[in-house]
Amino acid sequence: MFEYLQKKLDKALHIFKGNSRINEINIAETLKDIRKALIDADVNYKIAKIFVQKVKEKSIGKKVLSSLNPKQLIIKIIYDELVSLMGKKNIEINISNNPTIILICGLQGSGKTSFSSKLSFFLKKKKKEPLLVAADIHRPAAIDQLKIIAEKDNLPVFFLKKSKNIIEIFDKSLIYASEKKCNVIIIDTAGRLAIDKIMMDEIQKIYQYSKPDETLFVVDSMTGQDAINTVQSFSKFLNIDGIVMTKLDGDSRGGAAITMSSIIGKPIKFISNGEKIENLEIFYPERIANRILGMGDIVSLVEKVQEQFDEEKTKKIYKKISKNRFDFEDLLEHIQQVKKIGSIKNIVSMIPGMEKIIDNKNKKKYSFKEIESIILSMTPYERNHPKILTDIKRKKRISNGSGISLKNIDLLLKQFSNISKIMKTIKDHSGKDIIKNFLS
Ligand code: GDP
Repeated sequence: MFEYLQKKLDKALHIFKGNSRINEINIAETLKDIRKALIDADVNYKIAKIFVQKVKEKSIGKKVLSSLNPKQLIIKIIYDELVSLMGKKNIEINISNNPTIILICGLQGSGKTSFSSKLSFFLKKKKKEPLLVAADIHRPAAIDQLKIIAEKDNLPVFFLKKSKNIIEIFDKSLIYASEKKCNVIIIDTAGRLAIDKIMMDEIQKIYQYSKPDETLFVVDSMTGQDAINTVQSFSKFLNIDGIVMTKLDGDSRGGAAITMSSIIGKPIKFISNGEKIENLEIFYPERIANRILGMGDIVSLVEKVQEQFDEEKTKKIYKKISKNRFDFEDLLEHIQQVKKIGSIKNIVSMIPGMEKIIDNKNKKKYSFKEIESIILSMTPYERNHPKILTDIKRKKRISNGSGISLKNIDLLLKQFSNISKIMKTIKDHSGKDIIKNFLS
C-alpha cells in the first residue's frame, strides 16, 4: 500500500542537501521531485502544485530548531500537509442507534459485497450484532455470493430470493433482525457498471425509506482519478457519510485515497487492502502519512522536540560554550532537557553525518545516569568551577559518591574540557553534540 509514493518521496528527500537553513535554492530540486512523485502516484495536478507550494512556504526561511536538521523539518512539514490533505482525523461510523442502518452503495465490482461482510466481521469484534441484508434484486448471483462469504465466517445474512422489491426486503430484514437480536443492519445494494438512472432511482428509494444512519460509498482505488469522479457523480444524488476505498493492496498508486476527501469534502472511513475478511482498516490520516513517508520515528522526534525542547535554554548554553563558561551545572541541565525527548541513542542515530562530526575513538562513553550521578556528587561550587577538579581529594569524593571509578571520572573531566574546543569547530551547533561526546 502506498509503496510507490513512498519510494518516490524517499528519493526526493534523499537529494536534499541543506545545512542549517532551508532556502529557495537548496529546496528547489526536492520540491520538483515531490511534485512529480505526487503526480506519478495519481494525485491531481492542481492538488500536487498546491501541496508543493504549501511545503515551500512552510519550510523556506523557517528557523530550524538547533536540535533538528532541515531534512527532518521538511519531513515533518510534508507529513503535516499529507495529514491535512487526507482530512486530518478519522471520522468514525455512527453505530449508536439500535438498530443502526448502514447503506452500502457503489459500482459493480468495486468490492461492495466483500466490504459489507468485512464490516460485519469488524462490528462483531466491537461486540455488535450485525445483520447482512442482500439487497441486489437484479443479480441472484450477488445474493449467493454474500451468503457464501458470510456463512464462511458465521455472519448472519438475510435475503428473499424471489423478491424484486427492495422495500419489502428491508422491512422483513428489520423483523428478522429484531427476532435474532441484531442491532446493526448492513444493506448491500445492487451495483451497476456505471452510475445510471435505474441504479440511482433504486438507491434513492431505499435511502429515503430506510433513513440510514450511515451511507457508505465503496470505490475501487485501482481506478485512480476515475474513483474520484465516480464518487463526485454519485454524491450529487445522495448524501453520503463516508467513502470506502478498496483494493489498496493492488497496483493502486494511492493518489485517489490521499486526495479523495479534500476533493469530495467527505471522509474516507475505511480502506480495504486484500480479499480476506480481516483485510479492512479504519482510515487514519496520520497513520497513512506515516506509512507513506516511512519515517514515523523522525516525525515523532520532531514533534517531541518542537513540544519539549527549550530553545532559550539551548541558546544560553551555546553562549556559555562559546565564551568558555560552560560548566557542569549546564551539562546537567542540558542532559535533563534532552532526556525529555527520549532515547538519545535513537536521536543521535537519526542525525545524518553526526558520527563524522565528533571523533569518539578511544573515548569512554557514559550513560545519562552515570553523567548525572557524577555531576550530582559534585558540590555546587565544583559544578560551576570545573577547573578546581584537578584536585585528587575532590575527585576521590566524587568517585565514592557516584560509584564511578576514579579513572572514569578523570576521563569525563578530560572530555568535558574538550567540549568548547570541539563545539567551536561545529558550524551548526546542535544540542545533542555536547551529549553525544559522552554517551555510550
Ligand atoms: P461488488 O460487485 O461491488 O460487490 O464487488 P465484490 O465484493 O464482489 O468484489 C469484486 C472483486 O474484488 C472480488 O473478486 C473481490 O474478492 C475483490 N476485492 C474486493 N475488495 C478487495 C481488496 O481490498 N483487495 C483485493 N485484492 N481484492 C478485493
